[in-house]
Amino acid sequence: MSPRKFTGDRILIATHNAGKLDEMRQLFAPHGVTVVGAAELDLAEPEETETTFAGNARIKAHAAVKATGLPALSDDSGIEVEALDNAPGVYTADWAETPDGRDFLMAMTKTHTLLEDKEAPHPRKARFCATLVLAWPDGHDEVFEGRVNGTLVWPLRGALGHGYDPMFQPDGHDVTFAEMEADQKNAISHRADAFAKLIAGCFD
Ligand code: IMP
Repeated sequence: MSPRKFTGDRILIATHNAGKLDEMRQLFAPHGVTVVGAAELDLAEPEETETTFAGNARIKAHAAVKATGLPALSDDSGIEVEALDNAPGVYTADWAETPDGRDFLMAMTKTHTLLEDKEAPHPRKARFCATLVLAWPDGHDEVFEGRVNGTLVWPLRGALGHGYDPMFQPDGHDVTFAEMEADQKNAISHRADAFAKLIAGCFD
C-alpha cells in the first residue's frame, strides 16, 4: 500500500533538539507546511523503552500527537558497529551519558576499546541509522528508514558536526563526517536518506 499523503498545513516536530528542528523547518519550507517544535509547546519527553529505532520513534510521535491533537513527526537515530553485534544502536546516546551531560569522546573511546579488546579486524564497518515516523491523530503512522554505511577510524579526525562524527568515515569518501562541511554531510547522511523517503512518500 502506498503511504498516506500529508494534506495539513501544520506539523509538530517531536524533538527538543533545536538543530533537528531547524533542519526540518528548511526541509518543509518548499511544501507550504508550518513547523512547530515540541519545546515551544512545552511537551514532556516520553521514555524510549523500545529496542528498535522505529519503536522509539513511534513512541515519540504518538505521544506528541496525543498531547496536541496535531500530526507529528519524530526521529530516532544512532550508530551500529558490525563487530559489536550492532551496538550501541538505539543506545548510542546512553553510551555518552554522564552525570554532567553527554560525553561523546567517552562513548567513542569505549567503542574503540571494545573493538581493540576483541581484536576486531579492519576495516571496522559501521552504519548510521535514522528512522522518521509521521503520525496522525487517528493513530495511523508511516515509517521511513535511512542509512549510511562507513568505517570507524582511530585516532579521531575532524572537529565539525556532533556525536560520533569524528570516528565515522562514510564509504566512498576519505574524510570523516567531522571533516565535512554541513551541506556535504547533509547530502549523504542517514537523516537525509530518511527525509528523502518521507518527502517522496507523504509530501510529493
Ligand atoms: P536520538 O536520536 O536523539 O535518540 O540520539 C541518537 C544519538 O546518535 C545521538 O546522541 C547522536 O549523537 C548519535 N547520532 C545520530 N546521528 C548522528 C550523526 O549524524 N552524527 C553523529 N552522531 C549521530
